[in-house]
This record gives sequence, C-alpha cells and structure tokens, in this order.
Amino acid sequence: MDKKVVIVGAGIVGLSTAYYLNKAGVDVTIIDSTDGKDNCSYGNAGYISPSHIIPLASPGIISQGLKWMLNKSSPFYIKPKLSQDLLKWGWLFKKAATDKRVKAAIPLLYDLTTQSQKLYEEILREETIEAGYHKPGLLMVCQTKEALKHEVELVEIANQYGLEASQLSKEETERMDPNVHYNMAGSVYFGCDGWMTPNAFMEQFKSLLVNNGVKIDFKTELQAIETKGNKISGFVTDKKNYQADEFVIAAGSWSPLLMKHLKIDLPLQAGKGYSFTIENPPTMPKLPSILVEARVATTPMLHGFRVAGTMEISGINHEVNPARVQGIIDSVKEAMPEFQNYGFDTIKPWAGLRPCTPDGLPYIGRPRSIDNLLVGTGHAMLGWTLGPITGMLLTQYITGQSLDIESNLLNVERYN
Ligand SMILES: Cc1cc2nc3c(=O)[nH]c(=O)nc-3n(C[C@H](O)[C@H](O)[C@H](O)COP(=O)(O)OP(=O)(O)OC[C@H]3O[C@@H](n4cnc5c(N)ncnc54)[C@H](O)[C@@H]3O)c2cc1C
Repeated sequence: MDKKVVIVGAGIVGLSTAYYLNKAGVDVTIIDSTDGKDNCSYGNAGYISPSHIIPLASPGIISQGLKWMLNKSSPFYIKPKLSQDLLKWGWLFKKAATDKRVKAAIPLLYDLTTQSQKLYEEILREETIEAGYHKPGLLMVCQTKEALKHEVELVEIANQYGLEASQLSKEETERMDPNVHYNMAGSVYFGCDGWMTPNAFMEQFKSLLVNNGVKIDFKTELQAIETKGNKISGFVTDKKNYQADEFVIAAGSWSPLLMKHLKIDLPLQAGKGYSFTIENPPTMPKLPSILVEARVATTPMLHGFRVAGTMEISGINHEVNPARVQGIIDSVKEAMPEFQNYGFDTIKPWAGLRPCTPDGLPYIGRPRSIDNLLVGTGHAMLGWTLGPITGMLLTQYITGQSLDIESNLLNVERYN
C-alpha cells in the first residue's frame, strides 16, 4: 500500500502498530523521545491475561481505595492535588464504577484480550523471537477467605465466557506449583492466561521491525502538531518535522499532553507501578501469581523472578517511593515463605507509568475531528496484553479493512 505513516511512541502499542502496517506494505516511521529501552512496556509483569475482563473501575473499588489511601505502604494511592484534569478523571472514574458499566465492558475486554493473545501466539509462531512465552495459567493467591470468595465470583464470570478458571485448595495449588508453599486460604487458577519476558520481546520485536524496513528515530521528541483544516500536516519534533499521510499517537501516559495540541480532551492519568527482578531467587515458582490482598504480581521470567505492584496516581514522574516498594517486599515475604530470609537490599526498583482511562477501557480509533489521526492508548493494567490487537485495529483503520472489533466504548472522543 502506497501510504506513509508516522507513529509517536515505541512502546508495545507503537511497535505492534508498526508491525502490522509494515506487513501491509505501508512506509512506517516511529519516533520516541527516549532511547526506547525503558518505557512501561519493559518492566511490567508480562501477563497476557484474558482473565482480567473486569475493568479497574468496578463497584467496591472506591471504598477500598479510600482505605488504602491512609496507608503509606498500600498498593493504591492518589496524590491529592488541585488539578482540573485529575478532578475530572476522578469524577469520571466514580461514574464508571457501576455494575451496569462493568457488565457492558466485560464482553469487549473478553474479545480484545483473547484476540490479542492469539495475535501474540501468531507473531511468536511466525517470527524468530524467544521471549519465554508460556501458557499454563495464572494463580490468584488469597490469604483470606473474604478475598477468595470475591475471586471465586470472578471464576463464574470467566466460565460463562468459556475461559478456563477454577477454585483450588492449598493442597491443589501446591500440586500445581510445588516450588512455592503459599500462606493462603486458597487460590483461583486461570488456565487461560499466559506470560512472557516483556523486555526480551521488546528488544527482538524492535530489531525485527528495523530489519523489515521500519524506521525508528529515538531521542526525538514530538513537541507540536501542525494542522491544515481537518488534517494534521506535520509532527514537529526537536530534531525535524515529519510529514505523512496518517499519524498515530501511541504515546502511553503522555498521550493526553499531545492531544491537547489538537484541542481534544483525553482524560487519562499515569498509574505508576514498580517492579524488580531477582536473578537468583531462593525458589523459582512454576506459575505466575497475583497475591490478591496486596495486589502484587509475581512472574518467573527468562532472566529471573519479577515482582510488580502498586498503582500510584501522582502525575508523570518515575520517582520511586521506598515505603511502597517495601510494602511489595513485605507482601512477598508474608505470602511466600521461601522468600522470608531473602535479602532484598540489592534489588533495583523500576518504575513504569500505566496509561489509565477513567473507565478502564482503552482509546482506540480515529477521532471525528481529525481525518488522518489514529490514537491507541489508555490500556492501563492490560497494555502488555492488548498491544497486538490495538496495532491490528489501528492498521485496519489505516488500510481501510473491516475492523475485527468495533465498539463505541473504545471511542477516542467519548468524553468530549
Ligand atoms: C508494574 C507494572 C506491571 C504491569 N503488568 C502488566 C501485565 O502483566 N500485563 C499487561 O497487560 N500490562 C501490564 N502493565 C501495563 C503495561 O505495561 C502498559 O499498559 C503498557 O506497557 C503501555 O504501553 P504503551 O505502548 O501504551 O506505552 P509505553 O510503553 O509507556 O510507551 C509510550 C512511549 O511513548 C513515548 N513518548 C511519550 N511522549 C512522547 C513525545 N512527546 N515524543 C516522542 N515520544 C514520546 C515514551 O517515551 C514511551 O516510550 C503493567 C504496568 C506496570 C507499571
């Protein structure tokens, strides 16, 4: 196809979009303000999770969140500050946290997550990428009966959608993963989930794109957007100006700042999370697990054991809050006895910014007001999972093919 496209953002969304556009014969350039080695798509937990079909904004989350706000090592925090954007986001989040809205989102998240998982599997089958992809499932480890009761309700929903999910006793959990003896009331097993080592995938995916002819300009920051009528006429960066037929904004948590150049309101807050990777852990679990009460995710990866957690809404920054990292360490020690005597003092915490929309659903598509712009962002806790399907859908918009998934709930201008 004789088209030129410029994408801003070399995270999993930008790279996946470049991958499918390049396959369709489109001339693609990606620009990224960093050296592209450490965005949110690198240090995440690596889950590809159809099990996560319930959006973040769900009934009960507000009261739980308010309780967490009072504890400095808790997994969730909103920095109180008088920002109009944050106040609007909070208000929209509260409005989205209803049974009705959640029920409407579930089938869409099911379609997005399951199709994206298939696309990852296709990429890994067709390309030479070794990223440690496994699909024997994910354990939701509950220390209390109350947490277990809530997780079991999710099993019912997952089963209704044909996803493999079941409740396990402590003994059954240990049979499934004999390498850890979790302190637990029980667990829920989601056999539908897979995982990989995201940094390994990202590095090889980038090389593959470059080998296939995609141009990637790192250390190039988009600073302004020029328009002519209903069209973008150029991306203005600190290096040079870029012209193209179509432009894609896939800039993760920075996307709303870029959309402001076009006077389009994109309610989105950066949700900071931390991770660290232990190269030689005292035990290597066979399965990834979410320590449910602490909201901590653990993953056996190619180069070590990764632990990830927290959701801090505190603006765009990568500052590490030691109390919250300690909170993650304490939860691992409490839930996984094998780590009780491990010296965590040598860990190097990593911070990443999840792009969080108020309703937990991404923005994917073409805004009404600009004819040659596509947006793909706002995937929050599911951005690693949803990279390929987002890239596929944006490619279908650009090449004029019919969309694999169509929904007003993904509308980029749904809050304008
Ligand atoms: C601790 C943690 C654990 C997670 N675990 C999982 C998980 O297990 N499974 C899952 O599905 N998701 C997970 N996520 C979420 C997932 O990592 C993110 O949603 C996803 O990586 C976002 O990808 P992205 O491409 O949208 O953005 P990013 O990866 O953030 O990439 C955006 C890029 O845009 C560039 N950019 C921004 N502004 C400009 C500009 N003006 N000019 C040029 N370039 C610009 C940035 O430099 C950046 O490289 C986790 C996140 C965290 C923090």
